[in-house]
Amino acid sequence: MSASGAAVPIRAPEALRKKLAKIGLHSEADLLVHLPLRYEDETRLTPVARAPWGEAVQVEVVVSSCEVQFRPRRQMVVRALDDSGELTMRFFSFYPSQQAVFAVGARVRAFGEVRSGFFGAEMVHPRFRKVDAETPLPTEMTPVYPSTAGVANSALQKLIGKALAVGDLAETLPDEVRQSLKLPGLARSLRFLHQPPPGTDLDTLHARNHPAWRRVKFDEVLAQQLSLRRAYLARREQGAPVLVARDDLGARLLDQLPFGLTGAQLRAMAEIADDLAQPYPMQRLLQGDVGAGKTIVAALAACQAISAGWQAAFMAPTEILAEQHYLKLKDWLAPLGVEVAWLSGSLKSKAKREQLAATAAGAQLVVGTHALIQDGVDFARLGLAIVDEQHRFGVAQRLALRKKGGNPHQLMMSATPIPRTLAMSYYADLDVTVLDELPPGRTPIKTRLVADSRRDDVVGFVRKLVEEGRQAYWVCPLIEESEALQLQTAQDTYETLLADLPGLTVGLVHGRLKADEKQAVMAAFAAGEIDVLVATTVIEVGVDVPNASLMVIEHAERFGLSQLHQLRGRVGRGQYESSCVLIYAGPLGEIARQRLKIIFENTDGFEIARQDLQIRGPGEFVGARQSGVPLLRYADLELDADLVEMARTVAEEMLARHPQLAERHLERWLGSREELLKA
Ligand code: ADP
Ligand code: MG
Repeated sequence: MSASGAAVPIRAPEALRKKLAKIGLHSEADLLVHLPLRYEDETRLTPVARAPWGEAVQVEVVVSSCEVQFRPRRQMVVRALDDSGELTMRFFSFYPSQQAVFAVGARVRAFGEVRSGFFGAEMVHPRFRKVDAETPLPTEMTPVYPSTAGVANSALQKLIGKALAVGDLAETLPDEVRQSLKLPGLARSLRFLHQPPPGTDLDTLHARNHPAWRRVKFDEVLAQQLSLRRAYLARREQGAPVLVARDDLGARLLDQLPFGLTGAQLRAMAEIADDLAQPYPMQRLLQGDVGAGKTIVAALAACQAISAGWQAAFMAPTEILAEQHYLKLKDWLAPLGVEVAWLSGSLKSKAKREQLAATAAGAQLVVGTHALIQDGVDFARLGLAIVDEQHRFGVAQRLALRKKGGNPHQLMMSATPIPRTLAMSYYADLDVTVLDELPPGRTPIKTRLVADSRRDDVVGFVRKLVEEGRQAYWVCPLIEESEALQLQTAQDTYETLLADLPGLTVGLVHGRLKADEKQAVMAAFAAGEIDVLVATTVIEVGVDVPNASLMVIEHAERFGLSQLHQLRGRVGRGQYESSCVLIYAGPLGEIARQRLKIIFENTDGFEIARQDLQIRGPGEFVGARQSGVPLLRYADLELDADLVEMARTVAEEMLARHPQLAERHLERWLGSREELLKA
């Protein structure tokens, strides 16, 4: 990072630079904040005979033999001695150049765990280097860096050492901030972490609450907060279309619905209507439990955009869900004269051309899957982008949809509540509306737990229900290890049920069906032509068939809580009494037992998510899949929640009073990755 803000590239051969880029190391600044995972103590030698087994130590030995063996598999076996005893080293992958190091009589330092092997003390794949009797021992702990194939730790150590000597370690925290938070200086902290002084003990270094670590973690979350805050301010600066309804489209939609809105829906609608009428883009998350009625709220928002003369886009994560939305929205809006277009990956090329042309010509509502954000999709005047089940999309995808329009308003929807620490960080730039009320007249779903030995009873129950005119879902066991096995199971379940339920129409839907086949099955189920729909988890999100009043889930113990909740939410959508039967196979592990208990006892999605968080920890809520990139490398949102709070306040102050420092801070920590935070 030079004064001009341009990044100083890493001085290394092209081939190495390419490999470094793969782990996000592009500039000298990146090297400086590439911190060790852990440290190893190479300042001491341990006699082979006295090495504690299972602990990493350094030994210095003289090679007595080196041979390549082929049994039980190809490996290089090195025997070596020190004064105390013999050590065997085994390598299962090796290069000729490495073999050359182990010439008989050569002196080698090896670092690794000593284990008891067939021939006594043994190290598998130790780190090693050739030395002579005079080679001094390092005086510092060896930092071990996160790396990638083909980049040796020693190479990273060297590059980072150089960067520390010549790179920019200028302080970016204003003095008063540093003093009031009692954080050490940046240069000192980085030097300490990369090159801990002799005598520092390993426990101190590995404890991530050392002041130097706190400083680094604070800087990291500060960069995140600065970026979010800046995006927030920038968004307010940008113009967005002012969407004020010019006719009564929304009112006509409401008139034609067979139900009135709940209080929560009315409140959400009012908030959104207000946002859309502002001259800067809305960025709002509509949260509501499964079945809370988010779709109609989104449809009303679309009406406002349309009646203001703009287009609305509605994106959903799966083909099945997107098509359901398309059919429902068309059903609601086409009679009111709204042109609704449909874009999905499975459209035949002619149909696709037509839909693309319609979109470019200004079709008022465009519904679809990821197909909406492909190249070649052009909107005439996109005013509102709606993203359903937003947690299913990556950051980059949401960003792509926004880029399809000049600067459209954004409405995101989700049934997955966001834990507080996440709300403060990754989602700090969102306004949130919660639908905290379910539509009236829903009979609560009865949940039953049934051992798989009583599967026949469940089949009988299904038959009785179908005789009463209802329909059922039958969800097949999840088999995470193998998609092929999962398909096989779905096929088997389908055939068994066909045999068990003579006279009933049984359908099958799974992820491997072609999109139009999938649609045909779903349409038949929605039309009541299929009584029992055997399905894999492709029906997990959003599907809405009010006449289906039973959800059977086999091997429920294999599913996660939010999945079970989503699946259960597929029923109880009409006026009929609904139930969910969870078939489980024992013996149950502790976590599975807890999960089934939670889902049995609770119907509120927020409460379920809260308890889920307790048994799983927060990590999975923002997996790399959701956030696009692992934006926090050092700080932990739960453990370092206090830092996040502090960083929020500091970010606001810094942007107002020290904008240049803020700029340099962001450049150092985020460089090119900043854009991803803004989606
Ligand atoms: P979700 O919030 O899970 O997306 P949906 O929008 O799919 O929920 O709504 C679930 C069902 O409830 C749909 O059949 C929808 O038409 C119906 N619904 C929505 N709002 C109401 C309401 N206020 N009164 C009665 N039914 C409603
Ligand atoms: Mg929905």
